[in-house]
Amino acid sequence: MSNIPHVVILGGGFGGLSAANEIRKSLSTSEVKITLIDKKDWFMVGFAKLWIINGTRTFENSVGSLNELQKKEINFIKDEIISINSEKKYVETKSESISFDFLIISMGAVLAPQKIPGLEENGFNLYDHNQLSQIHEKLDNMTSGKIAISIMGMPYKCPPAPFEASLLIDAMLRKRGVRDSVQIDFYSPAPITLPAAGPEVSKQILDLVNSEKIIFHNSSKIKSVESNKLIFENSEADFDLLLAVPPHIAPKIIYDSGLAKEPGFILIDRDCKTPFENVFAVGDVTSLTVAENMAVPKAGIFAEGEGITVAKNIISKIQSKEESALFDGKGGCFIESGRDTASVIEVDMFTNDKPSTNLTESTSDNLSKKIEFEKERLSKWL
Ligand SMILES: Cc1cc2nc3c(=O)[nH]c(=O)nc-3n(C[C@H](O)[C@H](O)[C@H](O)COP(=O)(O)OP(=O)(O)OC[C@H]3O[C@@H](n4cnc5c(N)ncnc54)[C@H](O)[C@@H]3O)c2cc1C
Repeated sequence: MSNIPHVVILGGGFGGLSAANEIRKSLSTSEVKITLIDKKDWFMVGFAKLWIINGTRTFENSVGSLNELQKKEINFIKDEIISINSEKKYVETKSESISFDFLIISMGAVLAPQKIPGLEENGFNLYDHNQLSQIHEKLDNMTSGKIAISIMGMPYKCPPAPFEASLLIDAMLRKRGVRDSVQIDFYSPAPITLPAAGPEVSKQILDLVNSEKIIFHNSSKIKSVESNKLIFENSEADFDLLLAVPPHIAPKIIYDSGLAKEPGFILIDRDCKTPFENVFAVGDVTSLTVAENMAVPKAGIFAEGEGITVAKNIISKIQSKEESALFDGKGGCFIESGRDTASVIEVDMFTNDKPSTNLTESTSDNLSKKIEFEKERLSKWL
């Protein structure tokens, strides 16, 4: 280790930003050097994407600049990371090689629409920030026809988000007085709406979407997409506008560096360690098993909790302390109803033998909390 330990963080999303800030809050520049690398220089809270789709937001007023990190004495490099050498303790970007004492891999999940034949040509990617204004325009001009929202792979980011999208789209159409002539179909490969939240919450979400005449089709495993047609393993369905949640995979360099097997994610435990000394992984790029057939959902709130856990453990190591923290598995995800209220799915994954989930009432107070959640992240991290 050089005189001042160097923490390198790959990715400036929920995981990377929470870890960088937590470390800098406790340790000064004479105690630790922090470098965060991201190929883009902005951060956006995931759910703001849905506000761009419904037209209450623009991209420009939903992002924070990663260049602001410099003010906190967190070194920010805008560059693409092209390799990770966990044994020799360096990473390479397109323009330089950077050595580290501690590494936090928080590179998120990659959207892979190319895995579904015909999807890129015939449908929109609901999660791609480059397609949001186009989706908004299409919805804003639609007066009749069929909208299909289709989940095309599991796991995907923020399990409730596509349901929330369907409710916000329902509200947009309702406000324009065209809802009765537009059908909204929701297709999922899963047998229930939110397998990660269990059967009870899933039933409540089903009732919620049904109450807005959104038709949920379960066990619809996609094979391919044709012009205006979804081809599932056992059926077909037609659409006029397709909004897809494509399969998610890890970034290619995670596979190239042997940290995970394609098409999976980096396997971690509650300490977020990888098999390599002082190399940690957090957030959507990981898979943390909770119970049989169940993993921590891909959500910002959990990436944040894992980032803070790793930060605490790195701080302890730098201060030569013994304590080591474990990710607590607690968090909540908002679901907006499209009627100026929101509910929260509260999750506690490790306190009891079995993960517990609960769906709160949909209130305007929860909607204010959702707006506050975004504001708070942007102001405390950047
Ligand atoms: C529509 C929508 C709604 C959502 N709603 C919620 C919600 O209500 N609550 C919630 O908790 N979560 C929500 N999420 C999920 C949340 O956004 C993600 O789970 C979260 O961003 C994961 O954080 P992360 O740090 O693991 O990865 P990310 O935030 O994806 O960050 C990864 C970063 O790594 C960078 N990167 C990747 N590869 C490279 C490379 N080779 N070189 C350089 N940089 C690289 C990327 O540019 C990116 O900035 C939502 C997501 C979407 C799409």
